[in-house]
Amino acid sequence: MAQEDVFKRIVSHAKEYGFVFPSSEIYDGLGAVYDYAQNGVELKNNIKRYWWEAMTLLHENIVGIDSAIFMHPTIWKASGHVDAFNDPLIDNRDSKKRYRADVLIEDEIAKFDEKINKEVAKAAKRFGEQFNEQMFRQTNPRVLEIQAKRDLLHARFEKALNDNDLNELKQIILDYEIVDPISGTKNWTDVRQFNLMFKTQMGSSADSTMDVYLRPETAQGIFVNFLNVQKTGRMRLPFGIAQIGKAFRNEIVARQFIFRMREFEQMEMQFFVRPGEELKWFDHWKHTRIAWHKALGMGDEKYRFHDHEKLAHYANAATDIEFQMPFGFKEVEGIHSRTNFDLSQHEKFSGKKIQYFDPELNQSYTPYVIETSIGVDRMFLSVLCASFEEEKLDSGDSRVVLHLPRPLAPVKCAILPLVKKDGMPEKAHEIMNMLKFDFACKYDEKDSVGKRYRRHDAIGTPFCVTVDGQTMEDNTVTLRDRDTMQQQRVAIADLPAIISKECSLNNLLKTLPL
Ligand code: ATP
Repeated sequence: MAQEDVFKRIVSHAKEYGFVFPSSEIYDGLGAVYDYAQNGVELKNNIKRYWWEAMTLLHENIVGIDSAIFMHPTIWKASGHVDAFNDPLIDNRDSKKRYRADVLIEDEIAKFDEKINKEVAKAAKRFGEQFNEQMFRQTNPRVLEIQAKRDLLHARFEKALNDNDLNELKQIILDYEIVDPISGTKNWTDVRQFNLMFKTQMGSSADSTMDVYLRPETAQGIFVNFLNVQKTGRMRLPFGIAQIGKAFRNEIVARQFIFRMREFEQMEMQFFVRPGEELKWFDHWKHTRIAWHKALGMGDEKYRFHDHEKLAHYANAATDIEFQMPFGFKEVEGIHSRTNFDLSQHEKFSGKKIQYFDPELNQSYTPYVIETSIGVDRMFLSVLCASFEEEKLDSGDSRVVLHLPRPLAPVKCAILPLVKKDGMPEKAHEIMNMLKFDFACKYDEKDSVGKRYRRHDAIGTPFCVTVDGQTMEDNTVTLRDRDTMQQQRVAIADLPAIISKECSLNNLLKTLPL
């Protein structure tokens, strides 16, 4: 099945099984805003818990905060967001649709890559075992020709971005005859800058109202609290401040379900270090963060780093962790070495000294910062995409199963009486009452046991416990595994240990490098 169709299935599965609903659906929805449903919120909370505990429990020198969404508007002047948090937009006069000019060009570059990949796939088929892909890419005249065209476009695009040259972006779109996918025409407006921050007013009387912004990132709430946390927590460098919270961006083109939303959630950690030590820490966090992702067991080959070619003027290193979504490798997390830019800017704009006295060096300075910034929703999407399978069974039947990393599953254990009589429901409730303090459990007695198994496969429940006639005699149950569908007979008393071994977040945390 084409990856595009797989993605459509995942999106409808997310709705049908209570993970993600479009916001305000009975009013026909609201663009790029989504609600997390009964199973989705549990999965999301588990992702957040995994991140929060990996940061704050495993590192003695990382503490958390929860700063407000509204902040003093000057913060966004200082951070550069008022002047520079823009995307270049372009409208098509025929379809009246709006696009990001940079994305249109990136898609054009991707078309060259696709052409090359097609040539490679064709040759691989033709040559079979003997095929040397690297050699083919380096020597095949057709591939080299496409690659040269691609590189030319890429270089021109990069220069236009670096020079902030909006006319040149439009010229590229015209020269490469990029058409609007909806109207099919080249009837484009000029490219304009569009600020992504949402603005609103605070205050009740006309003369005391103030324009404020919904924060476009959580990081600034950390920077402006740097001194508060450092002093009250008596923190010594290097140390980090972690935060999970909502962020808002008026994205021009919201696409790909929860990948690009207008209201989303971030998990950010700013790690403050001595000037000069930042690249060492950048490297450290790059490896720590990729290990966190890979520990979930969704497949190491699904991740890659994408180092930034174009660095923000204040950054001296930056990389993205990309995940293989059905629509290609996409950024899930950014790791940035932001120098002392943010703290210095806040010092300048607030007029307050924001420095750290280093007792070992006996001097004060503005700390440097390494930032790790991950979107909860993108992480959620990566977990959903990696877990989703439409599996053909030996019986000729098929099932939809979510192979969720077990500690993240919304329900860890379903408890199912075989029939609704002979004391089985009561026994099942007894088991539920024993397990529910440690694990998210669900009691389910409706429909045949086979149907109940399928329902729990579809939401990724790792274990189903079935109470049957034998249970009433010897206190054993059948325990069915989601992935293998194997059933084994186990004693009720052994259930906590078995479930805990596979599903506990603590065990997952213990696999992380410290
Ligand atoms: P992109 O280039 O995709 O717009 P970005 O580089 O602007 O992303 P950052 O500002 O580095 O993103 O934000 C850090 C993280 O926040 C991203 O890696 C992503 O996971 C998440 N994120 C950013 N924008 C959105 C959005 N509109 N919807 C969902 N998650 C987002």
